[in-house]
Amino acid sequence: MRRATYSIGLRTRFRGLCQRDGMLIEGEAGWGEFSPFWEYDAVESRAWWAAAREAADLPFPDPVRSSIPVNVTVPATTPERAHAIVIGSGGCRTAKVKVAEPGQDLAAEQARLEAVRDALGPHGKIRIDANGGWDLDEAIRRLPLLDRAAHGLEYAEQPCAAVDDLATLRRRGDVPIAADESIRRAEDPYEVARREAADVVVLKVQPLGGVRAALRIAEQIGLPVVVSSALETSVGIAAGVALAAALPELSHACGLATVHLFHDDVADVPLLPTAGELDVRRVAPSPDRLAALAAPAELVQRWERRLADVTGSPS
Ligand SMILES: [Mg+2]
Repeated sequence: MRRATYSIGLRTRFRGLCQRDGMLIEGEAGWGEFSPFWEYDAVESRAWWAAAREAADLPFPDPVRSSIPVNVTVPATTPERAHAIVIGSGGCRTAKVKVAEPGQDLAAEQARLEAVRDALGPHGKIRIDANGGWDLDEAIRRLPLLDRAAHGLEYAEQPCAAVDDLATLRRRGDVPIAADESIRRAEDPYEVARREAADVVVLKVQPLGGVRAALRIAEQIGLPVVVSSALETSVGIAAGVALAAALPELSHACGLATVHLFHDDVADVPLLPTAGELDVRRVAPSPDRLAALAAPAELVQRWERRLADVTGSPS
């Protein structure tokens, strides 16, 4: 199996990262991406490997739509930069704004949301993502204030880490609640639905073990689904697009327009939106781009060792 290890700089610090790296593998059906974040151990990374193998070895499920509406993702940056990111988003009508960044206060979040609303206009939708960063009291205090700053939030994604707290927030009814980490890093992804702790669930292909595994969860969970990326190159994004394309129903914009957070991409034609939508297509990296973005030797060795740990075979 052919594989390549990439390293690409990020335009703005995101999830504490300034650079993203991972492996791309080629199989019978095409290319797949294996890029678990470094804090994930070998056991948790197995699902990511299963997703990469599925994309390389099998065709994606049949699509029921040919394009996917997507949100622009706004990192925890200045209001000026947030405004510019929305304006340059390729026509996205929905924005996802990162909040609960360590070291940033409420005023910074309010200013960012006001700037995004200004750039998006009155009819665009704004969602926030706290990555489980608030305790319950903080979420109860901040959500109504951020809802006001945004002139209405579509939903708040994972405001708290615990499913109990999500359920409490949802019952309060200030803002609809979406679950992300409570699905993809949980023993039981269905607990959120049983406890009525979310209005929307976020599904990501790599952490859930592939397009088919995520599709099964979507079919059984009984809640609207937003497909999001795990900050991948266009090769990994194409698997998210395949999941979104195969869902029987898609009522919300997906979080798949994240290639714009990268300085560069492995594809000659990156999966970026036009008129706020991504085309449904497979992506193969270009040999020139792979050469230009190849990880340094030391990082390649780290990935080879990691792959051996995950697959349980010497590389
Ligand atoms: Mg999230």
